[in-house]
Amino acid sequence: MISIYDTEGIEKLRARNAVQPHRLKLFRTALFKNAQGRDKALASLPEAARDEFSRTIDFHSLELVERHDSEIDGASKLIFQTSDHHLIESVILRPKTGRTSLCISSQVGCACYCSFCATGKMGFTRNLTSAEILDQVLQASQIVKSEGRSIRNVVFMGMGEPLLNLEHLFESLEFLRAAPFFNYAGSRLMVSTVGIPHAMEHFSSVFPEVQLALSLHSARQDVREKLMPQARTYTLELLRESLLTASLNGKVMIEYLMLSGVNDGEADFRALEHYLRDIPVHINIIPFNEYAGCSLRGTPKAEMKVFSDRLKTAGFQTTLRYSLGADIAAACGQLVQHKK
Ligand code: SF4
Repeated sequence: MISIYDTEGIEKLRARNAVQPHRLKLFRTALFKNAQGRDKALASLPEAARDEFSRTIDFHSLELVERHDSEIDGASKLIFQTSDHHLIESVILRPKTGRTSLCISSQVGCACYCSFCATGKMGFTRNLTSAEILDQVLQASQIVKSEGRSIRNVVFMGMGEPLLNLEHLFESLEFLRAAPFFNYAGSRLMVSTVGIPHAMEHFSSVFPEVQLALSLHSARQDVREKLMPQARTYTLELLRESLLTASLNGKVMIEYLMLSGVNDGEADFRALEHYLRDIPVHINIIPFNEYAGCSLRGTPKAEMKVFSDRLKTAGFQTTLRYSLGADIAAACGQLVQHKK
C-alpha cells in the first residue's frame, strides 16, 4: 500500500495509469481541500484508474474509534487509534462565531510532564508520523463537511509537544499549506510550545507565516519550574531571546493558564508585565479546567477578568478566553492517552 502522502509513490501510480496531472490535482483537491471523502475523490479520476488507486492507496492511517459531542457547547472529541493500538485525541471546536477550529495531537503522550496537564501525567510513548498528524485533519474535515462547515484553523495544541517532533511537524505543515493538498494559509495554522528556544528559532525561520503560541503560564522562574519541568533547562532568560526572534515574524501568542494562588497574584502580574514589555505579543488568559487527580484549582472568573483588564490597561493586546469541551474532557490540558 502507498500512503496518500507518499508523493513519489502516487506519482508512479499516476504515470502507470496514464492519469493526466490535472486529474490527479482534481483528485487531491476533492480529497483534501474539499473534504469530499475517498469515493468522491476517486470519482474525479478516469474510470480506468479508479480500481488501482482504490486498492493501492492507504487513505487513512488512523481509525476513528470514539466520538464524544459536548452537550454544553460545540466541541467534539475524536478518539483515534493508531495501527500499533495507541489512542490519541483531536478536538473539533465550533464556537458561536462560526469559525470552526481543530486541535490536533503531535505525539502519543508527552515527555514534558507539565503539572497542570492530564496528557503530561501519562508519560511519552512515541512521536506521531506526519501521516497520523494529517489524518486527524482529513477525518475531522470530512465530519464537519457533512455539517456544512469547514475547518478554518488548525492548532497543534493537543497531546504532545510539537517542537519535540520537529521532522513530522514540518512535513505535516508542508502538506497543510500546499495548494494541491489542504491549502491553508499560514495564518490559519498555529503551533503551541512549552518553549524550547532552539526549536522555536528553527521553526520561525522555516515557517515565518505560521503562528507560534508560547505556553508561558508564569514569568517567575521558580513558579514556572514548578508548573513545567522543561523550564529548568529552558529558562525564562533563554526563552526571551527566542521570543524576540520569533516575534520578528509577527505577534506571538502567549498562553497564560490562570491557577488560583499559583500564578494569579500581584507579583505574578508585575513579573509578566515586565517580562513581556516591548515584545509584540497577544496574551490569551485561559481558564483552568479541573480534572480528577489534579490538585490545582482555577482562578475565579471575576479575578481572571481583573487580571486581563489590567494587562490591557498596561498596553498588552489581551483576550480572556473561554474553554470549550470541558464536559467531555476535551478542553485545554484535559486530553489523555486512554488505554485499551
Ligand atoms: S501541556 Fe503540552 S507540553 Fe505540557 S505535558 Fe501537556 S501536552 Fe505536554
